[in-house]
Parts: sequence; C-alpha cells; structure tokens
Amino acid sequence: MPDIEEIENSEKEIIRKVVAGEISFRNIEKMATTVDSAISIRRNALEEITKTRFENIQHCTLDTAIATKRNIENMIGAVQIPLGVAGPVKISGEFAKGDFYLPLATTEGALVASTNRGCSAIYGSGGANVRIFHEGMTRAPVFKLKDVVQAKEFVDWIRRPDIFAQMKEKAEGTTRFGKLLSVEPYVTGNTVYLRFVFDTKDAMGMNMVTIATEAITHLIQDEFGAIPLSTSGNMCIDKKPAAINSILGRGKTVIADTTIPAKIVEEKLKCRPEMMAEVNYRKNLLGSARAGALGFNAHSANIVAALFLACGQDAAHVVEGSTAITTIEVTKSGDLYCSVTMPALPVGTVGGGTGLGSQKDCLKLLGVQGPGEPAGSNSKKFAEIVAAGVLAGEISLIAAQAAGHLARAHAELGR
Ligand code: NAP
Repeated sequence: MPDIEEIENSEKEIIRKVVAGEISFRNIEKMATTVDSAISIRRNALEEITKTRFENIQHCTLDTAIATKRNIENMIGAVQIPLGVAGPVKISGEFAKGDFYLPLATTEGALVASTNRGCSAIYGSGGANVRIFHEGMTRAPVFKLKDVVQAKEFVDWIRRPDIFAQMKEKAEGTTRFGKLLSVEPYVTGNTVYLRFVFDTKDAMGMNMVTIATEAITHLIQDEFGAIPLSTSGNMCIDKKPAAINSILGRGKTVIADTTIPAKIVEEKLKCRPEMMAEVNYRKNLLGSARAGALGFNAHSANIVAALFLACGQDAAHVVEGSTAITTIEVTKSGDLYCSVTMPALPVGTVGGGTGLGSQKDCLKLLGVQGPGEPAGSNSKKFAEIVAAGVLAGEISLIAAQAAGHLARAHAELGR
C-alpha cells in the first residue's frame, strides 16, 4: 500500500499539472488513485485557477463511484438543495392508492407550506382522483429525401404493416423492456420526420428510445435507402416547449381532480368557491391565452421541479412536464371542482438520476423506488402522485390569490 505522503505528493503534482494546462479536467481520473481523489484534485486545481475558495461543495454523501459513472462528468462536489415534505395527500389513482407524503426539493420559501395547504384541502375533501390517459416516450429521426415524390414513397413504405413489424422487431431487440407502439410521419418539403412512440415501462426512457430508434434508422437506411440526418429531428420534441407534446402527449398524460366542499374552501383556503373560479378563469385561462402560453396554470412548474429534483428526474423535463391546464368550476351544490391536466409528464423510477442515494430515499418515501411489479407500474404510480401534488399546488396558490394574501405568505415565509 502506498503511504499517505506519497499519495499527497502525487496529488499535488497532478494539481500542478492541471493548473499548468498539462492535464485536462477530463483526464484527471486516469491519473488519480481513486474517484474521490480525482474529484478533490479537480476541485483544488479549480480553486487555484480561479482564485476561489470552496467552503461547501466538497461536503457530500453521494456515492461518487456511481455518480461519476452514470450521472456526472468533471465532478467537483455537490450542490445541496433543502428538502421539505408536504402532505399527506390522499390519492385515488389506478396505481397510487392511499396517503402520500411529497418530498419537495426547493430553495423557494412558501412553496412547501403552500403545497401542504393544498394537500390538506384535498385530504379534507376525501382525496384526489387521478387517471393516466396516454403514455409513450417519443423519438423522431429526420431524413432527407430527393424530392416530394420520394418523400411520399417513403411515407407509404413506412406505413406498411410488414415494415412496422420489422421496425418493431429491430427496436425491441435493443431492450428488455421497451415496446414500439406507433410511428407517425411528418413531411416538410423533401424532409421527413418519423415520430416513434415507445412504452418505456418504469424508465423515463430517453436513452432507451434513442438506442432503439437508432437501430430502426439502420434498418430504414438498409431497406429503403433514406439517409437519417439526426436520430432526433426535434419533432420528438425533447425539453423544448411545443404544442405537439401538449396535444399528442409525451411521457404520461395524466389528469387529477377533486371536489372541495364550500365549507373547506372557506375554512382552509380562506375564500369562497366563486372567487377561486373567477381567478382561475381570468388568470389561468384568459391570461394564459392572451399571453400565448402553452401552460394554462398558476405554477405547476414549481411542484414538478421540486418533485423532479427530489426524486432524481431529468430536471430539464420540467419544460414539457409543467404544461398543465388547470380548471376550476363551482358545482351546482356550490362546492369547488378543480382539475389539472398534464399532457406531457416524462417520469421514471429506474435509470438516470433515480439510482442516487438521496433521490432513492425520496422515491422510497412514495413507494416507487426501482422497477415496479408489473414493469411500468412504479412510473405510472409516480406520475399519478406528481399530478396530485400539482393539483394541491394549484388549489393553494389560486386560493391565496383569490383571498389576496399571497404577498403576506411570501413576506412571512420567503424572506
Ligand atoms: P437509463 O438510465 O438508460 O436506464 C433505463 C434502462 O433501465 C432501460 O433501458 C432498461 O434496460 C433498464 N430497466 C430495468 N428495469 C426496468 C423497468 N422496470 N422498466 C424499464 N426499464 C428498466 O434511463 P432512460 O430512462 O432510458 O434515460 C434516462 C436518462 O436519459 C437520463 O439520465 C436523462 O438525462 C437522459 N437523457 C438522454 C437523452 C438522449 O437523447 N439520449 C435525452 C434526454 C435525457 P434495457 O433497455 O437494457 O432493458
């Protein structure tokens, strides 16, 4: 075993070389004795290069061997985000049934308290119904054809059932879990986009469908001769706000609703049902329409982001994941019907960041960590929980605005 002094001297020498530009950040792992040593060398070199003194980012409990293998390059430490809990929220879904405590990772004061209030209103009303109406992760490669005549031949060929069967076999040869569900061609001049839709079970599925789609493009190139320019031609469309995801869905299309008795609206939410319906109509519906928004909601991104960060989801999917439509109506009996429709919620309980320790803890809290039995049931349960959380957030914020005490809540809790 090399002694400590030897290790320290060799680390110092590597740091010197990194600072001098003789070793790049990405090559440090090759020179260092351990993963943690590589991280420390990179951080120390960065301190010297930038004349910065880090006091916090070195403290972390992450399994650095796993993180550097699957989740991060050029690791220098970790950023901590406070984690709070809201709930319980009672959910009556097809997969999530019972009471759930929501782990919310955020730096935004008042968010957990507000979501908690929404959970309490839902709880007092008997719970939220949640249903998934569609699911399918998409990838859309782009092909350049000679002209519109050849583009039409290509589209006709793609639509043949025997060709679909061949593509399905090719795609499903790359994964134990993924299933090719459908393909829809879109044409612009001599450019053809094929929007493939996959059932990815408990994985959010972006890596899975990229690998499967690549295999299909090889088949297409060999059998038809169409040249794929990119495995992703942005008709997918990943991590960009787009109407196609809101209309056709991407990931899970999930809807949650609840009816809150007028008494609970008054006692817990401190306003009246018709005030909330009015604010929702003029703000979430009319205001969003006037602004040309894709999301017709108050702040679904807040709850989606906090749950995504806590539970190891791909944070960039907050883009499509938060394009929710919130509806609020006063019922004939004077109670309050509230719903959120989330057309494009990409979530997974395996893969990506779901394997990291603290994220695993949060998934465990929800009873959805890892693969479900049967496959796909955990990601569906998680999607239902996210929708119920968003419903709670919407109810609380709309009520706060209707009651006019939003500013007071921020002043007390956020500053
Ligand atoms: P992944 O990390 O590639 O892991 C998913 C794999 O887990 C599946 O492909 C499957 O392997 C396996 N698995 C085990 N049990 C499963 C179960 N019950 N259900 C489904 N799969 C199961 O995850 P991913 O969801 O495909 O991709 C997520 C990552 O992609 C994130 O890190 C995200 O940031 C990143 N990402 C990639 C792209 C891209 O274009 N490549 C774009 C955006 C985000 P088998 O398929 O071998 O059976």
